[in-house]
Amino acid sequence: MADIIDGKAFAARLRGEIAQQVAALKAEQGIIPGLAVVLVGEDPASTVYVGSKAKQTVEVGMHSYEHKLPAETGQAELLELIDRLNADAAVNGILVQLPLPAHIDETAVIGAIDPAKDVDGFHIINSGKLAVGQQALVPCTPLGCSMLLKDHLGELSGKSAVVIGRSNIVGKPMALLLLQESCTVTIAHSRTKDLPAVCREADIVVAAVGRPEMVKGDWIKPGATVIDVGINRIERDGKNRLVGDVDFASASAVAGAITPVPGGVGPMTIACLLHNTLTATRQQLGL
Ligand code: NDP
Repeated sequence: MADIIDGKAFAARLRGEIAQQVAALKAEQGIIPGLAVVLVGEDPASTVYVGSKAKQTVEVGMHSYEHKLPAETGQAELLELIDRLNADAAVNGILVQLPLPAHIDETAVIGAIDPAKDVDGFHIINSGKLAVGQQALVPCTPLGCSMLLKDHLGELSGKSAVVIGRSNIVGKPMALLLLQESCTVTIAHSRTKDLPAVCREADIVVAAVGRPEMVKGDWIKPGATVIDVGINRIERDGKNRLVGDVDFASASAVAGAITPVPGGVGPMTIACLLHNTLTATRQQLGL
């Protein structure tokens, strides 16, 4: 039976360390980091995420600024708000909750955020810096996965890793982070031939697909480390359940270690958002 990688506990430790560093920054520099979160519309999942982000921001001692705009907000109005937040010295990090309503161009909105305040790491300047190996604000979910892997395995150098999924917010930055750690990285996607055989070669499998329980135990090399990014709501036995992209029951019988859903990668995402907000604040202060 695989070791369970406890993302919930790791994220709680990380938030504790961030809270200490926020207190030190306040004592030494008189600065309290501020995170602005912008939500357009009332998507239920996004509303829950934004609420959790605001709560945890305040819990680590930072200022949280919530901007909730109606779904019919125009792009020009949203861009004006971003300009104001870019110019506001009390705001060190800006996050625009995705997805945005269809009439708003996400690329234009992300591109308008000051890269120094882009705590989601989605701005092309930050993705470019990550690609060429310069210091960047790194997307929160893959950053959290990378922290869990390093904590559990120590040295990642020379390990073979398969990332399933090539999105700009998870798959691609995940692959780049693993490459930075000197893994031999394969990026798999919907056109990959014989995905089970590709996965079976890997010491590390990161699944970021969005398909409930797709990765089965017989896809996993015995002893491999499995990171399940997926969050899928399904109905089973008449109950609503949250499952990952990995079939936990079969995979945990073969893997050396595995993240559960819930309680694995999920809690790391917000903790890494706070980590990025602190990093952005320090960089803005030249520390
Ligand atoms: P996207 O839909 O943007 O990307 C999914 C990727 O999976 C695509 O690259 C797609 O390939 C690939 N894919 C789809 N079907 C298959 C298949 N049958 N075989 C192989 N690859 C396939 O999703 P995201 O990257 O945004 O999210 C992935 C998952 O992670 C979702 O479950 C999401 O809910 C979850 N998530 C969790 C977060 C957390 O905090 N834990 C944060 C963000 C996401 P192609 O490019 O060829 O279409």
